[in-house]
Amino acid sequence: MNASLVHGTISGPLVLIGFGSIGRGILPLLERHISFDKTRMTVIDPVDTHRNLLDERGIAFTKQAVTRENHRALLTPLLTAGEGQGFCINLSVDTSSLDIMRLCRELGVLYIDTVTEPWPGFYFDKSADAGARTNYALRETVLAEKRSNPGGITAVSCCGANPGMVSWFVKEALLTIARDTGVAVDAVPVDRAGWAALMQAVGVKGVHVAERDTQRVKAPKPRDTFWNTWSVEGFISEGLQPAELGWGSFETWKPENARGHATGNKAGIYLLQPGADTRVRTWCPTPGPQFGFLVTHNEAISISDYYTVGSGETPEFRPTCHYAYHPSDVAVLSLHEMFGRAGVAQATQRVLDEHEIVDGRDELGVLLYGHARNALWYGSRLTIEEARTLAPYQNATGLQVSSAVLAGIVWALENPEAGIVEADEMDHARCLEVQKPYLGSVEAIYTDWTPLTDRPGFFPEDLDLDEPWSFRNVLVR
Ligand code: NAD
Repeated sequence: MNASLVHGTISGPLVLIGFGSIGRGILPLLERHISFDKTRMTVIDPVDTHRNLLDERGIAFTKQAVTRENHRALLTPLLTAGEGQGFCINLSVDTSSLDIMRLCRELGVLYIDTVTEPWPGFYFDKSADAGARTNYALRETVLAEKRSNPGGITAVSCCGANPGMVSWFVKEALLTIARDTGVAVDAVPVDRAGWAALMQAVGVKGVHVAERDTQRVKAPKPRDTFWNTWSVEGFISEGLQPAELGWGSFETWKPENARGHATGNKAGIYLLQPGADTRVRTWCPTPGPQFGFLVTHNEAISISDYYTVGSGETPEFRPTCHYAYHPSDVAVLSLHEMFGRAGVAQATQRVLDEHEIVDGRDELGVLLYGHARNALWYGSRLTIEEARTLAPYQNATGLQVSSAVLAGIVWALENPEAGIVEADEMDHARCLEVQKPYLGSVEAIYTDWTPLTDRPGFFPEDLDLDEPWSFRNVLVR
């Protein structure tokens, strides 16, 4: 694969909303792999710290926040100026993905985002009950839009690294396990039912989106600061949402503070506690066993939903799925400090750029467990050194995300009439083909570790000894 291959053309205006860590990261990838007219590109962000990158390229910059009130008037002329097919890339916080997606589809403009983001107020609404603050609820709004306006111009929902790329990894991991355990696959599945049947046949009980970020900073973190390798604002918002997971049909135990949803596909449950203060046991190649935070993510629900055989609360088969995230050590310290003060965010917030990091890697993959080979981790192990040589303006975490956005853009250009889609529904092989040059080493690694391995036994524990992968053993209590 040629890393400088042009994969597609944006023939109309191009609008990038948000010029933060991922917005800057997508810029060199667009320049390399997409043919577009820079004089027809506009970047919108209320903060202009990095506008020099745009000025030196002749790209227009609008210093403004996109809001509930102004989004139609602000975006419509930009998205419809001149000839050709417009494209909107939404990489901002605090803007409604649904409203902007809806506007784009009305205007016949292709659209992509990396998260179902709401307008400001949603995450910190004290009057809303916990269920209303879940990603399940946010995702249901996009699914409702898809149901009421099926087909039409493509809008790719939640296509970053996770949510996004990890859904493509699940499919590769499934094909790998099938091959290695002698489950016959006559043809690679082409639809949801086919993939769900394959997961059931392979015997997968669940999926951890298992991530370890070992990127280390040059200077120690000062007190009263939140440092992270990607959006601090985004991480705090999702970290304070309820812990949330897709709920598998093999599970026999739920925590007492678990709640379900009265409406929708019922693929997920949530806990009455913040995700970034909820620990689970998981496994990644570099550390082996580790704690991860059960931070809510769209893919936890979408993957459980996509691979369901049957429907409702008690389907014939559904995998458990959740994020198990060990962020960089400074982000762990930042969370500890924030939760120690009852969730009050630090005054200074910083996204670490590629020059502030001394070493380390982001290891982001999917751990498919419960089958004949126990568990397979399939994912990207990208070092900061590799990231620096592959593309400017981003660390390893950022490059895993921006390259997934690139893959989503290419897929949308090649499939412009696919309607609203999630990463699970896209051609995973094509997307990974586009993305792989930026993922460092992509590996499939089996482990014999389970959540029951090496428990020291110093204290009595409430364990399920018959089902090692039970959420009862995974959740740290
Ligand atoms: P960031 O905080 O570095 O940047 C966000 C940018 O949005 C900032 O420059 C900010 O000024 C701008 N912004 C804020 N309000 C705005 C508004 N109303 N209109 C326009 N711009 C506005 O964040 P990031 O790390 O670049 O992440 C961007 C988005 O991508 C976030 O929503 C984040 O949650 C998401 N994300 C997804 C993944 C994934 O894998 N799916 C990974 C990382 C980030």
